[in-house]
Amino acid sequence: MVSKFQLHAVGEMCPGYVNNSNASGINSSITEEKMVSCETCIHWERGRCNINLFDKVLTDLDQT
Ligand code: SF4
Repeated sequence: MVSKFQLHAVGEMCPGYVNNSNASGINSSITEEKMVSCETCIHWERGRCNINLFDKVLTDLDQT
């Protein structure tokens, strides 16, 4: 199971992170949307990374 902390940590470290807030547009007042996390990345789909960077970045994190 992936924790919120891991999603955040991976987002911070990930070279492929692209914030998706421009795509969703209207509700831009929620500060949490600006938090870097896989959950705010355009590549995050149905609970996984659609360019398969998540496992790689998470592994790199675990090694530090
Ligand atoms: S969803 Fe994928 S590309 Fe986006 S931050 Fe997470 S691991 Fe990186």
